[in-house]
Amino acid sequence: MKRIFMTAAVLLCIPAALFAAGAQEAETDQITVVTTIFPLYDFAREIGGEHADVSLILPPGVEAHSFEPAPRDIVRINHADIFIYAGEAMEPWAHRVIESLSNPELVLVDISEHVALLEADDHHHDDDDDHHHSGTDPHFWTDPLTARRAVQVIESVFIQADGDHEEYYRKNSQEYQGKLEELHLQIKEAVEDFEVRTILYGGHFAFGYFAHRYGLDHVSPYRGFSPSAEPAPQSISQLIELMREYELDVVYHEELIDPRVARIIADETGAQLELLHGMHNVSREELEAGVTYLSLMEDNLQKLIEGLGTKK
Ligand SMILES: [Zn+2]
Repeated sequence: MKRIFMTAAVLLCIPAALFAAGAQEAETDQITVVTTIFPLYDFAREIGGEHADVSLILPPGVEAHSFEPAPRDIVRINHADIFIYAGEAMEPWAHRVIESLSNPELVLVDISEHVALLEADDHHHDDDDDHHHSGTDPHFWTDPLTARRAVQVIESVFIQADGDHEEYYRKNSQEYQGKLEELHLQIKEAVEDFEVRTILYGGHFAFGYFAHRYGLDHVSPYRGFSPSAEPAPQSISQLIELMREYELDVVYHEELIDPRVARIIADETGAQLELLHGMHNVSREELEAGVTYLSLMEDNLQKLIEGLGTKK
């Protein structure tokens, strides 16, 4: 605290050109944190506040599943104090990168080791004839209560790395967990009134944890948990049939990818296209507009209320 006051006093008397140098010096007190996906970035900056220098490895607008780190990203991870990633299913490249690192002080945090992950078979499907989904669903953050677990992990890692600010991290974490809890209650209440309880999604399905938490069904023409495999035409026609059966006039698409499949469904059914944001990453515009995990989730809830209707 003393040092910060002194720095401020000195800065008042020196030219602006020196300001940057002074600011950099102060920054050495911060823990350096590198994260892989937007929700982890957002949670880390919420908890770390002024004591953490948090960065996101995904450049704005880049689709997360097809991302491969460049050599400069690996250097950045190697120079950090803490590297937080979502795990093997989300970042198949992570283990290769980790093997190549040389910083023995770096703390590695694989969130998938700390949250209860869903396997493909845990998801309920309307039809069982198309069961080629396999593996672990990485999208744990779409359920606010599973997200809260990730927040608790980040809090304890920060406290271990920087015990001097234990109280600060704990307070930020408690406040943020309270907001996640509020979000959860808000969703729970809204979902109870949904007229239709199936989410029809024209992108790769990232809302398995969300659907699981709130007792909703979901259908996506994509197989597996990434947008890399194009859906079969017959899966698309099945979704079109379901749209008609449920009399839905909204079809959802995912973020940061041309919504080709969702558009086909919209054209065929006359439905409106709406973004249901999977939050893996955000666009430059969204970043500049200051979107957060909480704001994106609230937007998603409004889109679901709009698309699935309410009984009232
Ligand atoms: Zn995904």
